[in-house]
Amino acid sequence: MLETRKASAVNGQQVLDVKMYINGKWKDASDNQTREVINPATGEVIAYAAEGTIADAREAIFAAREAFESGVWSDLPPMERAAYLYKIADKIEEQAEEMAKLETADNGKPLREAGFDMGDAAACFRYYAGMITQPDGQTYHVADPMQAMVVREPIGVCGLIVPWNFPLLMSVWKIAPALAAGNTIVFKPSEITPINPTNLIKIIEEAGVPKGVVNLVHGAGPVVGNEIASHKEIDMVSFTGGTKTGKHIMKAAADTIKKVSLELGGKSPNIIFADADFDVAVDYALFGIYCGSGQVCSAGSRILVEEGIYDQFIKRFTERAKQIKVGPGLDEETEMGPLVSKEHMEKVLSYIELGKKEGARLLFGGERLTGENLGNGYFVAPTAFADTTLEMRIVQEEIFGPVAAIQKFSGEEEAIRLANGTDYGLAGAVFTADGAKAMRVIKKLRAGITWINSYHPTYNEAPWGGYKQSGIGRSLGTFGLEEFQEIKQININMQVEETGWFKN
Ligand code: NAD
Repeated sequence: MLETRKASAVNGQQVLDVKMYINGKWKDASDNQTREVINPATGEVIAYAAEGTIADAREAIFAAREAFESGVWSDLPPMERAAYLYKIADKIEEQAEEMAKLETADNGKPLREAGFDMGDAAACFRYYAGMITQPDGQTYHVADPMQAMVVREPIGVCGLIVPWNFPLLMSVWKIAPALAAGNTIVFKPSEITPINPTNLIKIIEEAGVPKGVVNLVHGAGPVVGNEIASHKEIDMVSFTGGTKTGKHIMKAAADTIKKVSLELGGKSPNIIFADADFDVAVDYALFGIYCGSGQVCSAGSRILVEEGIYDQFIKRFTERAKQIKVGPGLDEETEMGPLVSKEHMEKVLSYIELGKKEGARLLFGGERLTGENLGNGYFVAPTAFADTTLEMRIVQEEIFGPVAAIQKFSGEEEAIRLANGTDYGLAGAVFTADGAKAMRVIKKLRAGITWINSYHPTYNEAPWGGYKQSGIGRSLGTFGLEEFQEIKQININMQVEETGWFKN
């Protein structure tokens, strides 16, 4: 666990000291700069994180390169690499309770959500530990006397850049498969939530992973992140974050033709037909948008409701949403926590103002919440707009907050047209009692992750990623490992003699 620094300059309380980990050493930034880490439920400083520089990023990149070339990790038999990953999973589980509290303090999410994330993180390491020891590759029956085969190899040095909405889990979705595949890594968590990503690296160190294999650099995206995306010694950049940043990453990576994997934003449709189980559909619609305060890439932020049940849906959805208990994540009663930062809260509130200007009908919420236990936290009430239309910016753009845009549709064809009507294509769901209709609609949905009569369940075993401007590539499942592997063709000559092509 992270060490405690003496006192915050702001309020005199004890705060955490979040360092970087480069070539097996814990370090401050090369110019000793730090950044405040804020608890979004209170507005208080809970840590100071090293603010990495370009020089720090380069040191980490060279350390990862040296470790990769040495074979200290990539040449290990997969069973041995797997043993490290199992050890990491065990250690996450041992510390899960404390880490869940830190996740809540850093990100704001309710403790029960953070608890799930810790369990999923440990399971993800175990999943890839198991997978890397399984047979893979292919053989090809080409003309005699040749035999062709394909083997999978690590890519090399992987740059991993992640966001703040699942600080530990988004880190693990990349680190577990990247390490399983035999790569070395340079890892940059979000500057907003560096605490558990750093604890994870401590755990990896304690598990005995050799120095240089895993390197952690904190700092600003346009500085450290950009250096990782553009540096020649990085063979692949795997990024999760906003679509706008994803475009920067692709451009930064272009000059060195590195492999780019992108998990980006979404504006996902949740389609509710009139024949659906009404209470179940309302329940999942609430879960789809308000879980994680709407700060979930796959959030069901566009709720498309068939005309026959539109008014009834709005009535019930409003009644239930108004009962959601908003508060600090550490409170057991809390069902929805704050937004992650003041800047993000202001962005979400500005979208709510925009929705009003665009003529959408505000059903409830729409304001910052203050009061007894909310103090200086960044709380925004669950909010919904009805009568939204496809042209509105609140329907087209990712708000990434507890703001639902509800839209009426008539029949299957219109549902599909509206559902596919944005630049995003991450996720989507259909609620109906008609199985054939559910499949017809899902098959037309231009999205990578879909549910029928459900919303949000995510599995380590199944691929995660988007169509269109929601990304390139997949996390998790077998695809998640393949992202971090090169494919090599090997041709074996079974008759070792001259070709006779040239006469002399
Ligand atoms: P962000 O794009 O602002 O930042 C993500 C990471 O990129 C951070 O570590 C940041 O420091 C870094 N970064 C920022 N600018 C950079 C640059 N120019 N070069 C390199 N790195 C840079 O995203 P965020 O606000 O942290 O996270 C929210 C976004 O993440 C949402 O759009 C959400 O949908 C998306 N997200 C997607 C998935 C998915 O699986 N598709 C999962 C979680 C979050």
